[in-house]
Amino acid sequence: APAPGEGVLGGLDPDQRQAASVPEGPLLIVAGPGTGKTRTVTHRLAHLVLERDVDPACCLAITFTRRAAQEMTDRLHTLIGEPARAMTVATFHSFGLQVLREHHQALGLQEEFGLAEAGESLRILTELTGEARTARTAREELSTARRTGGDHPLLADYLTGLREQGLIDLDDLLALPVELLETHSDIREHYQRRYRWITVDEYQDVDELQYRLLRLLAPPGHNLTAIGDPDQAIYSFRGADVGFFLRFEHDYPTAPVTSLTRNYRSGRHILTGATRAIAPTTLVTDRTLQPASTRPANTIVVHRAVDEHAEAAYIARTIDQLLGGSSFHSLDSGRVTGDGPGGIGFNDIAVLYRSDAACRPVLEELTRRGLPVQKRSHDRLAARPGVELLLGELRHTGGAGDALTRLRAAASGLDVTEQVRAELHSAVEVLAPLARRCGHDVEVFLREVALGAEADALDPRAEAISMLSMHAAKGLEFPVVFLLGCEDGLMPLRWPSTPTTSEAIAEERRLFFVGLTRAQDHLYLTHAARRSVHGNAQDRRRSPFLDALGDAATHVETAPRRQKPAQLSLL
Ligand code: ATP
Ligand code: MG
Repeated sequence: APAPGEGVLGGLDPDQRQAASVPEGPLLIVAGPGTGKTRTVTHRLAHLVLERDVDPACCLAITFTRRAAQEMTDRLHTLIGEPARAMTVATFHSFGLQVLREHHQALGLQEEFGLAEAGESLRILTELTGEARTARTAREELSTARRTGGDHPLLADYLTGLREQGLIDLDDLLALPVELLETHSDIREHYQRRYRWITVDEYQDVDELQYRLLRLLAPPGHNLTAIGDPDQAIYSFRGADVGFFLRFEHDYPTAPVTSLTRNYRSGRHILTGATRAIAPTTLVTDRTLQPASTRPANTIVVHRAVDEHAEAAYIARTIDQLLGGSSFHSLDSGRVTGDGPGGIGFNDIAVLYRSDAACRPVLEELTRRGLPVQKRSHDRLAARPGVELLLGELRHTGGAGDALTRLRAAASGLDVTEQVRAELHSAVEVLAPLARRCGHDVEVFLREVALGAEADALDPRAEAISMLSMHAAKGLEFPVVFLLGCEDGLMPLRWPSTPTTSEAIAEERRLFFVGLTRAQDHLYLTHAARRSVHGNAQDRRRSPFLDALGDAATHVETAPRRQKPAQLSLL
C-alpha cells in the first residue's frame, strides 16, 4: 500500500519513483530483469493521469503480448479506476489494427477487411509457387523481409492476391500503418497529437517496422518512454534488432537514461547465477542485480539425469515434493487443492523448454500423474492446426483445407484419429480462457485468436502448472521454475544444417538468462546424459552455459537405474 501522501508513486523505490516522475520528453529506462521496469512504467502512467492531469485518452502503452496488455490494463484499473478504460493499452499489432480501422479509406482498403489466417496466406502462395512446401518457406521469407525492411520477388503478387479477397495479413498490421503515416502528414499529425504520451515495454525486441511506426508516432522530443534490457533481446529470429534499442539515445538525444539495479523478483543465488551466466556477452555496462527482497536464498539446483525419461521423472517427483507430496490425490471432483507446505500451488510452477520436442516426456509424465498442466509456446495461436480447424468451422470458410493435411503430416505413421482428437482437444483447451474473456462477441474472439500468440492464452489464475517455451516466458515470473534440456545442442540450440554463428550463441545465452531470471525462489536446471532426438538416442553433453554458475548452483544426480524401454505415447 502506498505510504500516505505519496500517491501512486508510493509503491515504488526511490530510483523507480524518479524514473516514473520524469515530467516531459523522451525517457529511456534500461534495467535488468525483475527490477520493476514494467511496474515502474505502469505507475508512471497512473501518476500522469492522477497527479499531472494528463488526459488518459492521450496515453498509448505498447506491450509485447496481449497477455502483458491485459495485465497492465488490470493493474492500471486498480491504480486509477475508471479512467484506465480511456487509455490505449495494446500490442503493436492490435494498435495497427485500430489505425487501419480508423483510416482504411486512405489506404483504399474496403471497410470490412478481414485478417488472413495462416492457411489463407499459404493458399495464395501455393497458387503463386505451385507447391505447398515452397509456399511455406516463402511465407517465412516474405514475413522476415517485410519486418526488416527488405524485399521479395513474390511480395507484390502475394499482396494482390490477399487484397482481391479483401484480406490483410499480420505483417500488414504494421506495414500499412507505416505506409499510411509516411504518406499522409495530416493523419500522422493527428496521431501525434492524440497520443501525446507513449510507453513501449520490451523495447529491445522491436523490429524495423515497429521502429518506423514509433518514429512516425513519436518524433524526437515526443513524450516517449522506452523500457527494456538489451540482455533480454531474444527475438532476432523474427526480425527484431537490439540495435534500435542501442540507438535510442541517438534518436532521442534529450532523453534522460535511468537504470534500476534492485531486483525484487529472485533470491540471491539465482541472481548471482544469472549475472554470471550473462557476463560473457552482456550488452550493458555494469550489469549488477542487487537482491532487494528477503526472498529465501536457495541455491540453483542443477540435476543430471540418465535420459529424458529420468529427467521427466525427476521434475515430476520434485513438483510432487514441493506441493507436499499430495498431488496424486489433489484433484478432487475438479477442484484442485495443490497447496504445498510452503503455500506452493500448481500455478506457482513453470516448466520452461527450448524446443517443443524436448518437453514432451515431461508433459507426458505430469499428465500421467494427473497433474494439471497448461502448455504454451511463443508460436501464433491461429497457426496451430487444431485451432485453424476450429476457426474454419466457426467462420464457415472451410479454412480447414490445409490444417487437416498438416495434422496428417504431424501424425506421420501414428494413429491419425488419435492425433486429430488430441490436437483438437488441446486446441479447445487453449481457446477456452480466451473465449471466456471475450464474452458474447464472436468477432472479437476471432480477432483475439488471429492476433494472439499461444502465450496469450495462458490463464495466470488457472490452477495448473505452466509449460512454456523460454521465448514465451519473457516478462513473466514464477516462484518455482524448471529449465529442462540444459544440454549442448539444445541450449544453445544448434541446427545440423546451419553453422552456428557467435551472434546466434550470444542470443541463446540471452535466452538462457531470460529463463533463469523468471524464477523467484526455486530454480532447477536439468539435463540428460542421453536423449532421443528424432528417434535416435544420442549422448549429450551438459550445456556450456552451466559452467558459469559456480557456487550459485548445487549439482545433484539421479543414481543410474534401470529404465523401462522408451515408449511412444500420444498426447
Ligand atoms: P522483466 O525484465 O523480466 O520484464 P521487470 O523489470 O519488468 O522484469 P517487473 O515485472 O516490473 O520487473 O517486477 C518484478 C517483480 O518485482 C514484480 O513482482 C513486481 O511487482 C515486483 N516489484 C518491482 N518493484 C517493486 C517495489 N518497489 N516494491 C515491491 N515489489 C516490487
Ligand atoms: Mg517487464
